[in-house]
Amino acid sequence: MDILVFSPHPDDAELGAGGFLLEMRKRGYSTGIVDLTAGELSSTATAETRAAEAKKASHLLGLEVRENLNFKDGSLSDSYDFRLQVAEIIRKNKPRVVLTPFYEDRHPDHVACSLIVKASVLYARLRKVGEPHYIKYLYYYMLNTPFVPTYIVDISDSFEKKMEVLSCYHSQFGAEVPLLRDYIPHVRAKAEYYGSLINVAYGEPFRAEGFLKVSDPVNP
Ligand SMILES: [Zn+2]
Repeated sequence: MDILVFSPHPDDAELGAGGFLLEMRKRGYSTGIVDLTAGELSSTATAETRAAEAKKASHLLGLEVRENLNFKDGSLSDSYDFRLQVAEIIRKNKPRVVLTPFYEDRHPDHVACSLIVKASVLYARLRKVGEPHYIKYLYYYMLNTPFVPTYIVDISDSFEKKMEVLSCYHSQFGAEVPLLRDYIPHVRAKAEYYGSLINVAYGEPFRAEGFLKVSDPVNP
């Protein structure tokens, strides 16, 4: 597998990296999402509804793998046990690139997912725990809290499809969901803002763990 995205709840990966996943599929990379919880604490949906929505979204994204670890929603913390289980998933899927939410966020599950995955990437290498797997890059995607990106992906060509993917999560982003009337318009506004920073219509920002090697700075 080329790209594996960890998502605290079904829909987070699509929000933060939906355009990235669509663009990479177009380039022929294999992609997958692993949800850590079923999102059963949602005020507007059951776990079953969210699973059905995730299935539709996965199909549109062309994912090779979509798994749910079914950790208890709201219970995530950066613990040894969670790290071991996520490291096992990394070993099993052998991704070259792993994505997880940025480590600053208003939702404690998002922060925990970020920390768990960062540690698990290292645990996945430990020979005494299992068959070692080394990923190439760990990237953080943006949910609620902005950060200065390491790079911004041009998602102009796939942006409308990303919106279609998000519309699969009707229970989360439907216009009638209380307090979320402006959510989808704001997704568009954010993508336009990050697009404006690289002079394209729509962009998605990412932070890399460590540094990226650039062989040709004239044409990166
Ligand atoms: Zn979430």
